[in-house]
Amino acid sequence: MGKLFAGIDIGGTTAKIGLVDENGNIIVKTQAKTEKNSHWQAIMNAYIDPIVQWKNEGKEIVGVGVGGPGAFDKNRRVLKTCVNIPPLQNEPIIEYIEQRLNIPAFGDNDATCAAVGEHIFGAGKDFKNFIMLTIGTGVGGGIVLNDKVYRGRDGFAGELGHVVAVPGGHLCGCGNRGCIEAYASATAIINEVRNGITRGSITSYEGIDPETINAQIIFDKAKAGDTASIHAVDNAASHLGTVIGSFVNMLNLDAVIIGGGVSMAGNFFLDKIAFHTRQIAWPLFMENLPILPAKLQNDAGIIGAASLILEEEK
Ligand SMILES: [Zn+2]
Repeated sequence: MGKLFAGIDIGGTTAKIGLVDENGNIIVKTQAKTEKNSHWQAIMNAYIDPIVQWKNEGKEIVGVGVGGPGAFDKNRRVLKTCVNIPPLQNEPIIEYIEQRLNIPAFGDNDATCAAVGEHIFGAGKDFKNFIMLTIGTGVGGGIVLNDKVYRGRDGFAGELGHVVAVPGGHLCGCGNRGCIEAYASATAIINEVRNGITRGSITSYEGIDPETINAQIIFDKAKAGDTASIHAVDNAASHLGTVIGSFVNMLNLDAVIIGGGVSMAGNFFLDKIAFHTRQIAWPLFMENLPILPAKLQNDAGIIGAASLILEEEK
């Protein structure tokens, strides 16, 4: 079977844990509950135990990569922020994994892990310079320059979701106003439609309980020609285009990759993002610049986290 790389994709309610081979294939995977109110070591034990078991079965695991919902320090060992799972913040979680398993471990922001995974195994494989936006509940990002992930001075780089698209605009979860996340995340798109329904300005959702509206319903309705839904999707795409176009002008990229749940809407959304990006980016910079969907889908979190170890070996 050869060398295997463990990935732990930490989420607020569950963590996905798995082993990945050198070709990016999942060999085995499982889930563990995130016991948010427990001591940090107890939370980590639930994630580490399956890997211990796989190791005891004789699997040749060479390292553990951890994707976390927050910002890791520059040594990629400590979560400096972790709003969703406060007990993990500022604790030596990576050192703890190394102690329990006796193999090297690294952690990074989950969206950065996604970019690393796409760079090694996915849509970014053939590109040396790209940005990746992960659009789901929030908007995450990763930056690859000169064939390497760009992490910045402290290791925090890539928070593309918190680039301001509208000064003084909608309040963002981070406390700032006008961040792209407050306009283009699934949450933001859903909120826009729900607010319209509440105000009475959107009437095309009659018979649908506003609480059950999700991004999928909005995209399906937009594809079917519903004006209000088209507007909601277009509004998100236009703000994304503003930010992506600015990055294209700044970095002269090879590609832009869009991942996360919302990217599953496919070309309908990507074409809109590309249109709005072209309104900002210079034509010269847009020549042969693909805006692509992420390739890694279901197990992207595990593969992205495990890729941190492959990145080290590169
Ligand atoms: Zn923000």
